[in-house]
Amino acid sequence: MDYDALFQDQLDQLKEEGNYRLFADLERRCGSFPKADNHVGDEQREVTIWCSNDYLGMGQHPKVIAAMHEALDHCGAGAGGTRNISGTNHYHVKLENELADLHGKEAALLFTSGYVSNWAALSTLGSRLKDCVILSDSMNHASMIEGIRHSRADKVIWNHNDVADLERKLAAIEPHRPKIVAFESVYSMDGDIAPIEAICDVADKYGAMTYLDEVHAVGLYGPRGGGISERDGVADRVTLIEGTLGKAFGVVGGYITGSAALVDFVRSFASGFIFTTALPPAVAAGATASIRHLKESEFERARHRSAVAKLRARLDAAGIPHLDNPSHIVPVMIKDPVKCRMISDILLDSYGIYIQPINYPTVAKGTERLRITPSPMHTDADLDHLVHALNDLWSQCALARAVA
Ligand SMILES: *Cc1c(COP(=O)(O)O)cnc(C)c1O
Repeated sequence: MDYDALFQDQLDQLKEEGNYRLFADLERRCGSFPKADNHVGDEQREVTIWCSNDYLGMGQHPKVIAAMHEALDHCGAGAGGTRNISGTNHYHVKLENELADLHGKEAALLFTSGYVSNWAALSTLGSRLKDCVILSDSMNHASMIEGIRHSRADKVIWNHNDVADLERKLAAIEPHRPKIVAFESVYSMDGDIAPIEAICDVADKYGAMTYLDEVHAVGLYGPRGGGISERDGVADRVTLIEGTLGKAFGVVGGYITGSAALVDFVRSFASGFIFTTALPPAVAAGATASIRHLKESEFERARHRSAVAKLRARLDAAGIPHLDNPSHIVPVMIKDPVKCRMISDILLDSYGIYIQPINYPTVAKGTERLRITPSPMHTDADLDHLVHALNDLWSQCALARAVA
């Protein structure tokens, strides 16, 4: 058997479709966010990143860096074990307290990533709650889908953000069965936002628990960065809030928060929590510093909102079509994988602008896009340069303009 030939066949097919992924080799430079060096072969050039999920630049915040240095010097590099076997460091405990407080919940539990937290929590809940049915929004993230699949619980998919459809599907399930309504607050690719309160209303009506992924909202929304559920004043209505420490908080790691019993349940039964080395203490310290800062500081959120508004206005003025949504994510739709990759390449090579093309399977075929995420650190000059570049490309490539 020629295994490499089998691998290569499928890779060639990806390339033919335009869906083969190429990573930009970046060297982020602390203190000059959103600039980075882009390595190409032996050369390197400065680029401006316009697609980072370090939405507020907290990965380079002096308080975060200082906290990480301090913990690194104090505790060393690794945690030294799983949480159960010598790996629970005091920094983890402090971070879990911080997270429970952020969402107004009794308890929180850390994971090595947001992906793992969704996968582990949903697979544990779905498999351990007898006869459980999981009702999953049709646009849920891969990590939730994989967790649900692994749980082997019955799964019902409801139409994206469609509360009436959710209610019809809840009503059709035998009342005695445990039910979990799983959804996100800010959807990362279209940037639309779930009607959390209405979803909680129908979930309550049918005795379902709610599982909310706030990965693209924590740090960014709500007066303390508690996400859309905090902004809408409904965090107490949601049974489980899941988040990441890797996006707006700028570090790495994932978590769930909820009642003491719920969190203890996942802690006690989730394989993806139990059998893996705990996060490095320095990571926990950095995340704690980031969360604490964003609980008190509105500065970054205000500048972030203003950067997003400016970009949208400039795109509108130039007739560059982008999805209208109520969040910080600005998707410029290309709707063709090959064109999307080509535009991204030209932006990088000719303009020093890095926006990764978003192609299948991250988004549905025919909805390929440039997903732009402005930050508080992008300057007016950065913005001018971006809009100018897109404008050139729209003319050169004869792309459709939006009608004002
Ligand atoms: C990125 C993402 C995750 C995973 O979080 P990580 O911390 O990056 O593993 C989970 N849910 C959604 C919606 C995401 O976009």
